[in-house]
Amino acid sequence: MAQVTNDKNPLYYESRQHLLELEVLHKTSLAISQIHSLPAIAQRIVDTIENLLKWNASIWLVEDQIPVLLAHRTKGLTGKSLKNESRRINDLVNSLDDGVIGWVCKRGKSVCTSDVSKIKQYIVTNEIINSELCVPLKVGGKTIGCINVESDVPNAFNKHDERFLTTLANQAVGAIENARLFEETHRRAIRQAALNAIITVSARAGTDPTEILNTALEQTLKALNLDKGAIWLSWYKHGVQRMESRNIPQQIINTVMANAALISDNSQTHTLVVDDWRNREQKISEPFISMGVYSIIVVPLLGKEKRIGGMAIASPDAHHWTADEIALVEAIGSEVGSAAEHAKLFEETTIRLDELEAVNKVITSLRLAQSLQEMLPQLMEETLKILGVDAGGIWLYNSERGKLCQMIGRGWCKQTAHLELDRGESLPGNVFANGDIYFSSDVAQDSLTSPAMREMVPQGWSAICLPIHSEQEPIGVLLASTPRPNEFTSENARLLVTLTEFAGIAIQRTRLNEQMAHHAAELEVRVAERTAELQSALQKAQATDRLKSEFIINVNHELRTPLTNLVLYYQMLRTQPKVKTEERLDVIGRELQRLRNLIEELLNLSRFDLGQVTFHPVQSDLNALIRTLINDRKSLAEERGLELITDLQSDLPPVWLDDSTIIQAVSNLLTNAMNYTPRGGKVIVATMTGLHNNEHWVGFRIQDTGRGIDNEDIPHLFERFYRGKVGHDSGAPGTGLGLAIVKQVVEHHHGRIVFKNGPEGQGAVFTVWLPVKQETD
Ligand code: ADP
Repeated sequence: MAQVTNDKNPLYYESRQHLLELEVLHKTSLAISQIHSLPAIAQRIVDTIENLLKWNASIWLVEDQIPVLLAHRTKGLTGKSLKNESRRINDLVNSLDDGVIGWVCKRGKSVCTSDVSKIKQYIVTNEIINSELCVPLKVGGKTIGCINVESDVPNAFNKHDERFLTTLANQAVGAIENARLFEETHRRAIRQAALNAIITVSARAGTDPTEILNTALEQTLKALNLDKGAIWLSWYKHGVQRMESRNIPQQIINTVMANAALISDNSQTHTLVVDDWRNREQKISEPFISMGVYSIIVVPLLGKEKRIGGMAIASPDAHHWTADEIALVEAIGSEVGSAAEHAKLFEETTIRLDELEAVNKVITSLRLAQSLQEMLPQLMEETLKILGVDAGGIWLYNSERGKLCQMIGRGWCKQTAHLELDRGESLPGNVFANGDIYFSSDVAQDSLTSPAMREMVPQGWSAICLPIHSEQEPIGVLLASTPRPNEFTSENARLLVTLTEFAGIAIQRTRLNEQMAHHAAELEVRVAERTAELQSALQKAQATDRLKSEFIINVNHELRTPLTNLVLYYQMLRTQPKVKTEERLDVIGRELQRLRNLIEELLNLSRFDLGQVTFHPVQSDLNALIRTLINDRKSLAEERGLELITDLQSDLPPVWLDDSTIIQAVSNLLTNAMNYTPRGGKVIVATMTGLHNNEHWVGFRIQDTGRGIDNEDIPHLFERFYRGKVGHDSGAPGTGLGLAIVKQVVEHHHGRIVFKNGPEGQGAVFTVWLPVKQETD
């Protein structure tokens, strides 16, 4: 023993040595009772040996047929350099056939040598070692590792040391086993806790898959005492949908996912374990090493039958993934898989319910809508909202035009509003013609899209387009579009089919309603027109009836009056032929004349009524006609003390006149003027031309200085037998038929007659206008 053999006093040496050995054993037993971590126990043993006995010790455990370094002399190293040193030492022994360590572990026997160069298994290191003592750690006859001590002093260890180290090894093995048991229990507890946490989270209804991923990653890292990892879900065919990560560059995750197939066969459903990338093919390992990840484990997240995601846990150092650790990560992976799938199912069910609610809302509003104008914007808005997209349009087939016409557009579809499509033209026309649902990954590039439409569609927009059916036939199409490529899923399609089914029926119903309302309105108008026609016909018939009755009463009265007078005077003459004979004969003569006039006028009117008036208009000089009529009345006017004045326009154009009737009309007007103008008054007759409605007219006006006509009489002037107040008061003979005849005559000439009282209500003014151009009947 290098440190103590120099001593002169062997007794002292021996007892001191015993003391030290006892102390080592004591401290080791303390370590056993106080420390539960396997590396910590081993390190404590190594440190105790080094401190008290000044031996370089190391402890090894056999794992999977390889001695693995558990603890060694720290040589004052810490942190990374200590780790590097551990790795260096560990790397020296790679199997049970390497070096003294391998030999002892494999055979379970001690090796004690005073000169390492004589042992053939000895692995030469850069340290100068001469003596080596290695004893096995044994449990129930099975070697689980070894304790190795070395010294640069030749012949440093003897049999006593070997016995002592064997005693220590026996004591240590108990501690190691206990620690292993403790660690195992602890690991199981952690693993159970991790699984429990995941199960608890996933058991909560409505848990977001993201929360499950977070919990799983946290728990795994905690259980493994690491801090780098990522977990992701890749449902559907769309790549990663959800991902959570801790302290790991995104690039690493991308590389893991991109290379999963390369790294290991069956990696889709199997675990990938890499203890040290430096031992792997460089092409694959390079990105990991360059980003400081030396070790990784990737497990699949398994749904019912297939992989639905993955979890990667990384270590910046080389890390030997024990079977236990691998089992833990795999167990969590499969637990998360089913939990996430449940969460996904729940989420999908919730989404479906939300969708259903939205669809119900649309259906209700469709049901309530009374017109297409009201319904289509609602349908469009709600559809886009449910799908979470911004563009879309609805086209309906217009059977009158034989075209598919866009009824409403949102987003880029607004630009296509003016395009009327034939059956089979462009994407909507095609869907309309084929009746099949159509997914377009890029409408602008789609071969179905017409060049005219292509101009309106932005690049890279995907779309879903489906027909809208009434009960029997397609009536239009609905299209929804989004800037994301391949966005629409079969779920979307299912939803839209439901929506368009209802929309089709609702649209058809509204169209029928609108048609019915239109027909009803048309019918109403026609009924109203017909009713008005019948009404007016009825009124005419009633008026004619009334006129007839009035006419008969009037005629009766008008005939009876002169007849009564005639009979009376005839009898008076018969009984007293000599008394007032002249006077009575005058009365008889006047009454006869009156009767004659009356009969004449009645006959005239009835000829007009029966259309028997022979009407032969010739181009005549109205001035000449009026002059003659005035001349004829000159003496009568003088007799009555009236002044007859003419004011005739000299250049009066000839006008188409039926002389006999027009003479009668002018005569009637002149007669009235003279009859109803008191002595000393004037009757002025004027002719003139005028322009009315771009037509040339010739007119005559007969104005007198009588009392004019009362306002209440004016509306009835031209009625048959109507004698106004003036007529009655005047005592002048009259029938009330004169103006009615004038009106008939003027109307036969397609002319107009206007009446107004003169200035300050004095005198009547009748104006007649006749067209210069001949009217053809
Ligand atoms: P009659 O002169 O035989 O009574 P008319 O048909 O010629 O019948 O005229 C109808 C009524 O119009 C007259 O009774 C009279 O009251 C009124 N009337 C017609 N011409 C004039 C006139 N120039 N001045 C005032 N009243 C007139």
